Amino acid sequence: MSLRSQMRYLNPYEIHKVIVNDYILKKPGDTRSLKRDCSKDRTDYHVIKDNHKFLWTDNDKPESWEEEFAKKYYEKLFKEYCIADLSFYKANKIALRWRVEQEVVVGKGQFICGNKHCSEKENLRTWEVNFAYKENDEKKNALIKLRLCPSCSTKLNYHSKKREIKRIKHKLKHKKDELLKSTLNKKKSANDEEKSTVELGVLPSASTSTENTRMDLKDDDTWAQKKVIEVKSREDEMQEYLDDLLL
Ligand SMILES: [Zn+2]
Repeated sequence: MSLRSQMRYLNPYEIHKVIVNDYILKKPGDTRSLKRDCSKDRTDYHVIKDNHKFLWTDNDKPESWEEEFAKKYYEKLFKEYCIADLSFYKANKIALRWRVEQEVVVGKGQFICGNKHCSEKENLRTWEVNFAYKENDEKKNALIKLRLCPSCSTKLNYHSKKREIKRIKHKLKHKKDELLKSTLNKKKSANDEEKSTVELGVLPSASTSTENTRMDLKDDDTWAQKKVIEVKSREDEMQEYLDDLLL
C-alpha cells in the first residue's frame, strides 16, 4: 500500500516511522530491505544507527510522490523543532539547540519531550519559541516549535506564557480550493459556449478570423491558469500533509 493511502489512517508517529524506514533510511532505487526492530531489547535508535549509512544525500533525487514527500518532510524536520535545556528555567535561562540527525530520526523533540533531560511521550504540547542562534558567525532568529510534556511546559512558561500551537483544520481551505476549481470550470465552459456561438454564427470572414484568434488566446489563458492551479495543488497537498504532521 502506498504511503499516501496509509497516511489517511496512521497517526503522525506511525507515518514518521514509515517515512523513516521506507524512504529516509533507504536511498531511491535501493532494493535492500531494512532490518526492522524485531527483538525487544533493540530500540529504534539501534536500528537507525545500523542503517545510518543509507541516509539520503542531496544528490539523491526523489522519483515518486512518496519519495518527494519523504524528502521534504525529513528536510523540514531539522529546522522545525528544537531541543531545550530547562535546568535553569527559574532564572529565566532556557538553552535551545537544533536537533541532530539521530534525534530527528527517532523523533526526540517531536514525539518525545523536547526537554533534553526528559523522555515523556504522552500529552505533548507544542510551543512557539523564538530561537536566536549563530550560523557561520551570523546571528539569526527563527520561530521554532518546542514539543514538551505538561510538566516541562510549566517550566517553559514559568516567566512568560509562550504561544501554543494547535492542530489546524484544513476543511475550510479544501472548500476554498473546490470553489476555485468549480469557478474555473464554469469559466472554461462559458468560453466553450462563446466559441461555438462564433463558429455557428454567420460572420464576415475577416471578422471570424479575429474572433477565433481572440478565442484561442482566451482558451490558452484558461488552460495555462488551470495548469498552474493543478501544479500548485500538488504542492499544496504536500504542504497540507506536512502541516498536519508537523504539529
Ligand atoms: Zn518533559
